[in-house]
Formats: sequence, C-alpha cells, structure tokens
Amino acid sequence: MTDGNQGNNRAVDEFGMSLGEESNCEKPGDQSRKTGAMSNQAEQWATQRRLMVDRQLRGRGIADERVLEVMGRLPRELFIPQDRRSYAYDDNPVLLEEGQTISQPYIVALMSEKLDVRSDHKVLEIGTGCGYQTAILAGLAGKVYTIERIASLAKQGRRNLEALGIDNVEYLIGDGSRGWPVEMVFDRIIATAAAESIPKRWEQQLAEGGKMVAPIGSSGSQQLLLLEKRGKEFRRTLLCYCRFVELIRDNHQ
Ligand code: SAH
Repeated sequence: MTDGNQGNNRAVDEFGMSLGEESNCEKPGDQSRKTGAMSNQAEQWATQRRLMVDRQLRGRGIADERVLEVMGRLPRELFIPQDRRSYAYDDNPVLLEEGQTISQPYIVALMSEKLDVRSDHKVLEIGTGCGYQTAILAGLAGKVYTIERIASLAKQGRRNLEALGIDNVEYLIGDGSRGWPVEMVFDRIIATAAAESIPKRWEQQLAEGGKMVAPIGSSGSQQLLLLEKRGKEFRRTLLCYCRFVELIRDNHQ
C-alpha cells in the first residue's frame, strides 16, 4: 500500500463520523446496520477519489506527489452541497450556492501544481467558495489567507474547513481584488475567479520571486496564467484557456 492509500483511509474515517452526526432518524438498535451502511458509502467515496486521482489527474499529467497526496486524502464530497454530492468526483465543475462553482478536479490540481507551494509559504487565495481549493493549499503551505466576496459562501467554506480540523487558514469576507487589507507580502497568490486584468494590489503583495496563478480576461476569452515576479517584471506563462466565474468588484480604483 502506498502512503496515498493510507491517506484515503484517514479521510474515510472522518467522513463516516460526519455522516453519523448528520443522521437524525435513527431507530434504537439500528447502530450496527447504520455503521455498516456508512462504511459502505465511505468506501465508495474512497474508490471514486482514487479513480479521480489516477484517471483525471495522473492520467492527464499531474505529477506533483504532494498535490496528488492531498487531493487523494481530502473528502471533496464534504465541500459540495448535499443535493449535488453524487457529482463530487465527476470530471466537471459543480454548482455551489449563489451561482458559483467549484472547479473541475483537474483544474484545481493544475493550479495547485503550477503554484509550486512549499510548506513554509504564505499563500493568498481570492475566492474561498466552498473551501476545497483552500483546503488543498492548507495541506501544502504554512499558512493560507483566503478572501471571499459572498458572506454565505465564506461562512460555509470556513465551516467545511473547520469540520476537518484545518487550522492554518485566515478568513476574510470582502473584495479580494483589493488584496489582503493589512500590508504584507505573500509567497504565492491564487485567484479562482477571473479578473479582466491583474489587480495592482496583487502585483504589489506578491513577494520578489513569488508566483501567482490566475484566470485573466473577459467572460468570452479567459486565459489561466502563471506569473512570476522578477523585480518590476512579471514573467507570464499561458497554462490553458479556461472559463471561470467573474470576479465581483466593489467600485474602487
Ligand atoms: N476555490 C473555490 C472556487 C469558487 S468559484 C472552490 O473551491 O469552491 C470563485 C469564487 O470567487 C466564488 O465563491 C465567488 O463568490 C468568489 N469571488 C468573486 N468575486 C470575488 C472577489 N472580488 N473577492 C473575493 N472572492 C470573490
């Protein structure tokens, strides 16, 4: 067995426990049958997660073992609204509340891999959403600072992460195009909503030698870009063409 598989087993246990807490129609004496049904369901999620990693990620060239390990361990189903949970491991984005989406697993993996996060890094994320990308970053980085514009999503995202015991994340509700409100620099910046052009504050708050991954462009034609800061210059690499939800900006310069 590989380390990745052991990771899966841990996530399965967590999932089994949280399902038990949600159930409110238990009859006396049902406990053992319920536990059996839960572990059956948990095994199915674990199988789908393994298939996702093998086919959608490794099979398409994602090779960063740290990213593969974290995505092989995190229960993606717990980040998705209950009525859409069966789509959790599909090779597609899934609709969240408020017309927002959780990105397709491959895109999440590609962004995480290209961001090249180390365990001592401070990472700024724009667009917490359900918190799935945040949880991956938290598994890779020292600390994650995440901003979400829509309060209901921000709260749900935070609940999802805290339920898994993830505690190296700072949360903020607001317009992430303004960057983090306190003066600081980040080793890495990632945006999961598309801006027409790169906000100045992101450029300012990226450390020298730092990397940023962001979808940039108008709704019809966005490009997923990797930017590396070298002095006043940014080296740009086009990762792929993409379609992300648009960044909602407050009116400001
Ligand atoms: N990474 C998220 C993807 C969510 S989609 C996930 O894994 O679920 C993009 C998110 O960006 C949405 O939640 C949207 O509300 C948020 N968003 C849009 N404009 C924003 C802004 N100006 N500042 C912060 N978040 C924003």
